[in-house]
Amino acid sequence: MSSFPVSSDWKSGCPDNLRLEDENWMRRAIQLAKNGQGRVEPNPMVGAVVVQQNEVVGLGWHEKFGGHHAEINALNQAGGNAKGSTLYVTLEPCCHHGKTPPCVESIIRAGVSEVVFAMEDPNPLVAGKGLQKLQEQGIKVSKSQLEKDARFLNAPFIKSFTVGKPFVIAKWAMTLDGKIATYTGESKWISNPGPENRS
Ligand SMILES: [Zn+2]
Repeated sequence: MSSFPVSSDWKSGCPDNLRLEDENWMRRAIQLAKNGQGRVEPNPMVGAVVVQQNEVVGLGWHEKFGGHHAEINALNQAGGNAKGSTLYVTLEPCCHHGKTPPCVESIIRAGVSEVVFAMEDPNPLVAGKGLQKLQEQGIKVSKSQLEKDARFLNAPFIKSFTVGKPFVIAKWAMTLDGKIATYTGESKWISNPGPENRS
């Protein structure tokens, strides 16, 4: 596994590919994050896995708005086994006091050796500072290749946080030349029959 030297900028990406098993653990963390869907908003969905010598010792996700962050739930489950472990977390651990104390402090206190994250926190209060704090404590910090998956998971959160606008998905039926009605504005049926019309 690669790690960022203290002087490096993780924004430039990971210098070497992480091992396949690292990405598998991150995939697991992304799956866990989805358990919070519909319960954590407007917070992001976050998942975390604590691995000690290739074995899972803690699983966690952000379960509900105002509740513990994913890392804390996973570290609590791991208990003493978190010492010397690798923590996989879908979002950069926070370093600010929000509704809960900063996660980086708990990670440091638990004795975690490595942190693999999938995306930086778009919150300007964190945005790279959480990672820096971990590195300053001698914890290896690596970026997963699954950033795209992690961003997709929280696309509405990222959009509202960075642009201040809602995330909208629009879907319509259109003709091959890209029209949704005639030039007179008259609507014409151009999609398939609705389910009630199907024989
Ligand atoms: Zn946190």
